[in-house]
Amino acid sequence: MKKLLIDLNKEELEALVIKANEKRFRADQLFHWTRLGARFEEMTNLPKSFVSFLMDGYFDIAASIKEHYKSEDGTIKFLLELTDGSLIESVLMSYSYGYTLCVSSQVGCRMGCKFCASGLDGLCRNLSAGEMLSEVIAANRFIKENLISEGKVGNVVIMGSGEPLDNYDNVVKFIKMLSSDLQIGQRSVSLSTCGLCDKIKMLPDSGISATLCISLHSPFDEVRKTIMPVANAYAVESIMEAAKYYFTKTGRRIIIEYAMMKGVNTSKKDVERLKELTNGFACHINLIPLNDTGASLKGVNKKEAYSFLNLVKQAGLSATVRRSLGQDIAGACGQLKRRYNDENK
Ligand code: SAH
Repeated sequence: MKKLLIDLNKEELEALVIKANEKRFRADQLFHWTRLGARFEEMTNLPKSFVSFLMDGYFDIAASIKEHYKSEDGTIKFLLELTDGSLIESVLMSYSYGYTLCVSSQVGCRMGCKFCASGLDGLCRNLSAGEMLSEVIAANRFIKENLISEGKVGNVVIMGSGEPLDNYDNVVKFIKMLSSDLQIGQRSVSLSTCGLCDKIKMLPDSGISATLCISLHSPFDEVRKTIMPVANAYAVESIMEAAKYYFTKTGRRIIIEYAMMKGVNTSKKDVERLKELTNGFACHINLIPLNDTGASLKGVNKKEAYSFLNLVKQAGLSATVRRSLGQDIAGACGQLKRRYNDENK
């Protein structure tokens, strides 16, 4: 079966070049081309015989853009096709400080959160590190070819479809490739997890110090269990202990993600418990009104969102209401479900 050229790091490319009886510098050329998302026919400085050797065993492009949907707010959702025909999505957001790409880490997801569309069909498979890197490379190429503005993806959030810590090794490799291959350092990378505690604790020793975002959504185990099946495996207390450990090891402030759901998690009681739980480590709470996915859970309106924000702030916690981008193209949090948009209805 053909492999993905982009899955190979510099050393692996060198080994491949040697196997093909080519000079060592060909590895640098290949590294350059693959990180630009070039097709074989564009790799014009490589000998034809070497290109045909490569074509026999490898795919040049791991993820190609099939469709893109542009939101009124400028956000662009990409529908990408992988070499096995699987579809994934990524979302490009444009901020004053540059482009941020939200990448998927799995085809589908097996966490089954009640409010999220990404897990509706369960998990199909993990993405390889090169496939995740290709989401970024494809977006860079799109920016270069289609947008007037200069620039590249400068920030990556691993918050698309999938649970990144359920694909641990590939995600760790991907974060390292972002910095070594595309110069996107770990300070510009955020990883969001529904709270797989043992994996959170492994991250610092794997050399990861990216911003850790924890999808908490409720400070109470009983409530969490009704909306997130993973809560049956990990208690809120253990998640907070793991978060504290990550903070102690990396010095990075933890982000708590909290989708506000009508009648579920926006009472005074919730604030009090949140305060108790986050005592002892630096964290910031990102409040987001639940985006509609057709599920029975409903979001709060703007007024309700801001009055909850006030309660949280009055309790002395650091918090903001996150602006939701790309809702009109089903590109906002929880809305990615690997479909062409006209099938989304
Ligand atoms: N599996 C990871 C990352 C994917 S989701 C995680 O659970 O963190 C990225 C964020 O969007 C998570 O915080 C997730 O809980 C949130 N989310 C999912 N569905 C949502 C919805 N309908 N509205 C708002 N946020 C949602």
